[in-house]
Amino acid sequence: MGRAFVYVILGGGVAAGYAALEFARRGVSAGELCIISEESVAPYERPALSKGFLLPEAPARLPAFHTCVGSNEERLTPKWYTEQGIELVLGTRVKSADVKRKTLTTAAGETISYKILIIATGARALKLGEFGVRESDAENICYLRNFADATKLVSIIQTCNGGNAVVIGGGYIGMECAAALVTNRIKVTMVFPEAHCMARLFTPKIADFYETYYESKGVHFIKGTVLSSFENDSDGKVTEVVLRDGTRIPTNMVVVGIGIRPNTGLFEGQLAIEKGGIKVNGRMQTSNSSVFAVGDVASFPVKLFGSDIRRLEHVDSARKTASHAVSAIIAPETISDFDYLPFFYSRVFTLSWQFYGDSVGEVIHYGDFVAGRCGAYWIDKGRIVGAFLEGGDRDDYAAIAEAVKLKMVVKEKGEVEELGVEFASRA
Ligand code: FAD
Ligand code: NDP
Repeated sequence: MGRAFVYVILGGGVAAGYAALEFARRGVSAGELCIISEESVAPYERPALSKGFLLPEAPARLPAFHTCVGSNEERLTPKWYTEQGIELVLGTRVKSADVKRKTLTTAAGETISYKILIIATGARALKLGEFGVRESDAENICYLRNFADATKLVSIIQTCNGGNAVVIGGGYIGMECAAALVTNRIKVTMVFPEAHCMARLFTPKIADFYETYYESKGVHFIKGTVLSSFENDSDGKVTEVVLRDGTRIPTNMVVVGIGIRPNTGLFEGQLAIEKGGIKVNGRMQTSNSSVFAVGDVASFPVKLFGSDIRRLEHVDSARKTASHAVSAIIAPETISDFDYLPFFYSRVFTLSWQFYGDSVGEVIHYGDFVAGRCGAYWIDKGRIVGAFLEGGDRDDYAAIAEAVKLKMVVKEKGEVEELGVEFASRA
């Protein structure tokens, strides 16, 4: 015997929090909804973990960043869930799922059944061991995906003041953690295989802007190579990082950000999978009509890209896919297929950028790449399909977003380069 609910959200991250808010707004009854999460805390704004949470002074701490404060919405504390009659089952890992029988089984052996399931299991951080590097259990190697990882990272940072860190990976985690470490007065060496940072999104020119800025803050870049092993002391702590070319870097700590894998495992063989995620339609409904998927784990059609199926790993899509799924479940007649403008952002040091759309086609850079307020447009078939801007204000970002949404026609590329953000303002 186990518990039974009308709605179950599997996973207790960003998407779960925004789904819960939408359920509450649409009048879910007490006892109908349950959220099951492996984490020990109620849904929170995960982006805070690599930003405010790592600050040396006045760091962000729970309950301040529970969802949905990231969108200036209500802050859903554990008390809020109790008041709504939403069951929060925390510290509980689901180890198997049976979509035919509509049941989930927890690691402790409890069976929880549902009428409608929302999969919001997010993703897990890739480990170096998966790339053939022998992993030690060294306490000074840090990954960053969840609250427990971030808590460990903070405690390691506190022991390394004035010391050295090696950051493995030049993506989002690498860039944001390197900035946070510097702010904590730790000297950083970044190591990654590509020719420049953020290789999947940044052009060489954009990357050069950020790398120059990071270098001015003392960050040292080692590019085009990967690490091959660690040297440990007698306590098992890493003391040196050894690279494939034989370079040895003494260090007090290591942060690893080498990508993620969506947590699809429970549903492989039961639901359609595409692009590494659980495939859903414009209502976030999977190949089983009682099961929906949202956030990092979902691959959904992006109308703006001709309904190409995409899986996005960013907070805005987690929030919006979650709200959309709940609307589709509770009031299907009121909504149409999800129409999403992909949006990514980051904030490091005093810098801040936003990107909208797709990074395909020809790139035209604009603005001042020395002082900041610079960016790029991606043009495909004579139209703007992507736009990046560093150092803009609210109106600037709204303008570039609109330009992408409308797929503005480009008649003269020289004009786009010259006008920069102002070109988008004509949208
Ligand atoms: P998650 O928020 O990862 O939540 C998944 C939840 O499911 C977790 O609580 C997990 O424990 C739980 N779970 C998984 N499997 C099980 C299971 N079997 N049983 C029980 N529970 C399970 N994006 C941006 O756009 N901007 C940013 O600045 C930004 N910063 C980020 C900083 C960090 C440190 C990280 C890690 C990510 C950041 N992201 C950012 C990405 C963004 O946070 C994710 O896209 C978003 O969290 C995805 O939401 P989700 O609900 O799909 O998954
Ligand atoms: P990313 O995919 O952004 O970056 C991973 C980086 O590590 C890439 O540069 C990758 O190179 C590199 N890499 C891969 N394998 C190795 C290796 N063996 N040694 C060294 N480098 C390697 O993932 P992150 O880990 O940075 O981020 C994890 C998740 O968190 C993502 O979903 C991201 O979207 C999210 N996040 C988002 C933020 C934001 O939006 N502001 C902030 C923080 C996290 P290659 O490209 O060649 O594989």
